[in-house]
Amino acid sequence: MRLTRRRFLLSAGALALGSATDAHAAEFSHRFEFSEPHMGTMFRIVLYAPDENSAATASRAAFARIAALDHIMSDYDDSSELMQLCRAAGGPAVEASEDLYRVIAAAQKLSAQSDGAFDVTVGPVVQLWRRARRRHELPDPERLASARTLVGYENIRLDPARRTVQLLKPGTQLDLGGIAKGDAADQALAVLNRHRITRALVAAAGDIAMGDPPADRRDWRIGIEAFESPTSPPSKVIGLHNGGVSTSGDSEQHVEIAGVRYSHIVDPKTGMALTGRRSVTVTASKDITADCYATAVCVLGHERGLRLINETPGVAALIIMENAGPVQQYQSPGFPPPEPASASADAN
Ligand code: ADP
Ligand code: MG
Repeated sequence: MRLTRRRFLLSAGALALGSATDAHAAEFSHRFEFSEPHMGTMFRIVLYAPDENSAATASRAAFARIAALDHIMSDYDDSSELMQLCRAAGGPAVEASEDLYRVIAAAQKLSAQSDGAFDVTVGPVVQLWRRARRRHELPDPERLASARTLVGYENIRLDPARRTVQLLKPGTQLDLGGIAKGDAADQALAVLNRHRITRALVAAAGDIAMGDPPADRRDWRIGIEAFESPTSPPSKVIGLHNGGVSTSGDSEQHVEIAGVRYSHIVDPKTGMALTGRRSVTVTASKDITADCYATAVCVLGHERGLRLINETPGVAALIIMENAGPVQQYQSPGFPPPEPASASADAN
C-alpha cells in the first residue's frame, strides 16, 4: 500500500479555512476545513463547530489518531507494528494492538466471504507490481510465481480471545493498503465525536467517513468521479450521512505497458494486476467496510461482485467498467439515487 513517509511541504500544521456559511444553521454554524498528508494521500476534514478554537483542537486530535494508525499499519516503515509482525512470520503467535487486530480481523472476514478476492497477504505480489509501475516493465514471471506462493489468507491465524496473530508461512508480507485508509477515516471521525463535533466528514481521497450532515441539509454530498476524465467535475453526486463511502479503481494509480493498462489492485489467485478500466463505489455503515469491499468488487467483476454485495446486509455498490466495448454501469438495489445536477459536492 501507499503508506509512504513522503511528507508534503504543506505538512507543518493544519490548513484552516474557517468561514461562516449559512445564516439558518443553528448553534454549529461555522464550517471549517483542514487537510494533512498521511498514508500517502491527503486527508481532509470538514466539520461544523461553534468556534475556530474547538474546531482546530478537535481536528488536531483526529490527525494525530490518523498518524498513530499510519505508524501501526504502514508497510513502508520498518518500525511499524505491521512490519514487526511480518518479521515474526513462520514463528509463534504474536499479540497485536487493538487497532492492528481490528483491521486484520475485518480483512480476514471479507477474504473468507469473497473467496480470497480480497487478501492482505498479497504484499509480495503488490511489491513486484509497484516496481513494475516505477520501471514501466512487467514483473519477471519467475519472481511473480514465487511471490504467489506466499499469498493465501488461510495462512493467517487469529485468536480473538488472546488478540494474537500468527503468520504461518515465513516470508509473509501483509499489505493493508486496501483497508487501512477507510479505518483511519472512521477512527478520525470517532475522535471528532469525542470532542463533541458530530457534523463532520473525514475524507482520505476516495475513502470517506461521514457523521451527521450540515445543520441545514439532509445529507453530505459525495461526488463520484467522471469515469472518462478524472479531472472533470464529478459525473454524479449522491447524498449520504452517518456511514462510509469508498471508491476503488485505477484512475490514480496504474501503469500502461505495451498498450495494456495495469491497475494497482491485483487478483490474488493469479498474481496479475487487474486490466480493463473499472471504478467501484461502495456505501456501508463504516468506511472500513466500504473500503475493503470496493477493492474486492474490483477483483470479482460485476457479476460475482454484485452477488457479494447483495448477500451482505448494509452495503450497496455502483460498478462502472469498460472492457473492450462501451462503458457499462451496474448498481445494487440499495445504492443512493443521484442528487439534482446543481448540487455541488462536499467531497469526492
Ligand atoms: P486506493 O488505495 O486507491 O484507495 P484500494 O482501496 O482499492 O485503492 O486499495 C488498493 C491497494 O490495496 C493496493 O495499492 C494494494 O496495496 C492493496 N491491494 C491490491 N490488491 C489487493 C487485493 N486483491 N486484496 C487486498 N488488498 C489489495
Ligand atoms: Mg479499498
